[in-house]
Amino acid sequence: MTAKVIDGKQIAEQTRAEAAAGALELKARTGVVPHLAAVLVGDDPASAVYVRNKQIACEKAGFKSTLHRLPATTTQSELLTLVHSLNANPAVHGILVQLPLPKGLDTTLILDAVSPAKDVDGFHPENVGLLQQGRPRFLPCTPAGVMRMLKVSGLETSGKHAVVVGRSDIVGKPMAALLSQKGADATVTLCHSRTQDIGAFCRAADILVAAIGIPQFVKGDMVKPGAVVIDVGINRVGDKLVGDVDYGPASQIASAITPVPGGVGPMTIAMLLQNTLAAAVALSAAGS
Ligand code: NDP
Repeated sequence: MTAKVIDGKQIAEQTRAEAAAGALELKARTGVVPHLAAVLVGDDPASAVYVRNKQIACEKAGFKSTLHRLPATTTQSELLTLVHSLNANPAVHGILVQLPLPKGLDTTLILDAVSPAKDVDGFHPENVGLLQQGRPRFLPCTPAGVMRMLKVSGLETSGKHAVVVGRSDIVGKPMAALLSQKGADATVTLCHSRTQDIGAFCRAADILVAAIGIPQFVKGDMVKPGAVVIDVGINRVGDKLVGDVDYGPASQIASAITPVPGGVGPMTIAMLLQNTLAAAVALSAAGS
């Protein structure tokens, strides 16, 4: 069997076009233009590229984006002052603090300071709690992107056994929550570095989501024939980007698979636009 390739670029393009149409409609109705404020601390080149790509996506969708660039020497209180000023600014709808923050800054404290109503990454504990209760405000962008890919591709989750490998707060845990919530209705197993015989769990998965950060960790013989394989991993190996799944062999066994690059990656930014639009809609309605 050769797996159907789930084209993340194409689904992301469609998702971004929907966000652009939503922004046009909001502007026509209320005069409000969705505005994402990005905060970049330090000079990590990869972070600078990620933020730039998010800004470009905003501009293409007709959103406003502003970049607040601070030196690596920024203190906790300086960064908190900036976050508080963005929280209080009615012209800003979404706030994104690019991670990782330089050493010496307390990431949890900074992310907790972002107004939950502008937390378009979905990292604030209030938004995490709402997701767990099945009444989400903002879904974390990467797992939300995976759910959209499954839906658009017509891949059923209800009654399936989904195995998520990786339990980070950003990907693995919210992914497991989304797959198991009412409406998605998968039965979920969440694996991590202490899981015994991880291959056995993977081989039992109808839907296998790999979010580990180890190049080609999931081998072909860990994939159940006919499974749907979602590769969240982005790992640089030499001058190439590879996922957490050994794509060649896995794609001969799975029924559908996401490539790296061009799979989950593009969906993350597309869902950030969706969240920023939703924030602008909610905040403009609250203010009117
Ligand atoms: P983290 O490093 O935060 O988490 C990795 C998880 O994998 C942990 O839960 C860890 O377990 C688990 N893990 C590590 N080694 C093993 C192992 N040998 N067996 C089983 N589980 C293991 O990573 P992220 O969740 O942030 O990212 C995961 C991958 O996804 C990375 O490649 C990252 O680049 C990519 N990514 C891609 C995005 C996209 O847009 N496509 C967005 C975000 C991330 P434990 O908790 O026990 O330590």
